[in-house]
Amino acid sequence: MSENEPEKTPRAGRCTIVGRPNVGKSTLLNALLGQKLAIATSKPQTTRHRILGVYSASDPPTQIGFVDTPGLHRPKNALGRALVEEAQGALADTDAVLWLLESPSDRTHGPPDLMQADREVKELIASAKVPLVVAFNKVDKLKDKTKLFAWLTYVQERIAPQAIVPISALKKRGLAPLINELRKHMPEGLLYDDPEFVTDRPERFFVAELVREAAIENTHQEVPYALAVMIDSYEEGQALTRIEASIIVERQGHKKILIGKGGSMLKKIGSEARVEIEKLLDRQVFLGLFVKVVPNWTEDPSNVRRLAMETSS
Ligand code: GDP
Ligand code: MG
Repeated sequence: MSENEPEKTPRAGRCTIVGRPNVGKSTLLNALLGQKLAIATSKPQTTRHRILGVYSASDPPTQIGFVDTPGLHRPKNALGRALVEEAQGALADTDAVLWLLESPSDRTHGPPDLMQADREVKELIASAKVPLVVAFNKVDKLKDKTKLFAWLTYVQERIAPQAIVPISALKKRGLAPLINELRKHMPEGLLYDDPEFVTDRPERFFVAELVREAAIENTHQEVPYALAVMIDSYEEGQALTRIEASIIVERQGHKKILIGKGGSMLKKIGSEARVEIEKLLDRQVFLGLFVKVVPNWTEDPSNVRRLAMETSS
């Protein structure tokens, strides 16, 4: 990303949140998302990820879906080969990892206690090549900030994350700088034209995610994971919810793969996604799917936004 990128660039994506029990993950999510969202979205979404909630802001336009990757942060002996592979697969389709560590307190001495489990997490993240942001939580428990500086240096040298941000989830301090660091790693473009939309109706974000998931699962390596899903229309009727969505790809070849012979692939993706969406919304759903080619859309967010508006009108 270039240094002089305009601050208003819309960005949206997913962030895996990891950290030992008690480090403050739930507190942070509640602080970022607001109680309502965290509750509304606590259902398990897929086997690989659990979507915990969506952070959404309009200035600058940002949507970050926080996900939890089961099995990523477990004690050493549970970290078998299968687990590693699963966690790696899950990491490969998130845009960033947020790793919560506990900040030093006035009572701690010496360098941070990076346990074996932490070192394994570090290796996993490094091998999956996902950007990593470290947050030192609970800085409110520390008066002598020189200690914090020593810890920052220690973690910078050993883990070398993209950024380290001191925060207090409880006191809601440092959250804006944290979001700012995370958004740098989110792909350009938004899932919706109106960011506020997501705050009111988080289920639309998950609907898009479920379509994306089904598309990725069915096409494996052939289509890059950077495909986008736009919700074109969403109508809550009496009997069912009518949803139309577009899968956006960059190349004609990818469109062909997604549609499949006589539309068979798109049909499969659609019916798999619909089953999951019906579980999420707990009602009957009609799902209409389209595939659109927008060359280099990731480099031109205005393109994606215009396209979304055209199809919804
Ligand atoms: P999780 O297990 O990682 O989800 O951790 P929780 O969010 O449940 O937090 C564990 C404990 O740490 C709770 O008692 C929180 O109130 C506390 N906690 C979380 N964030 C902070 C913080 O920034 N400062 C302080 N002092 N306590 C915190
Ligand atoms: Mg928790």
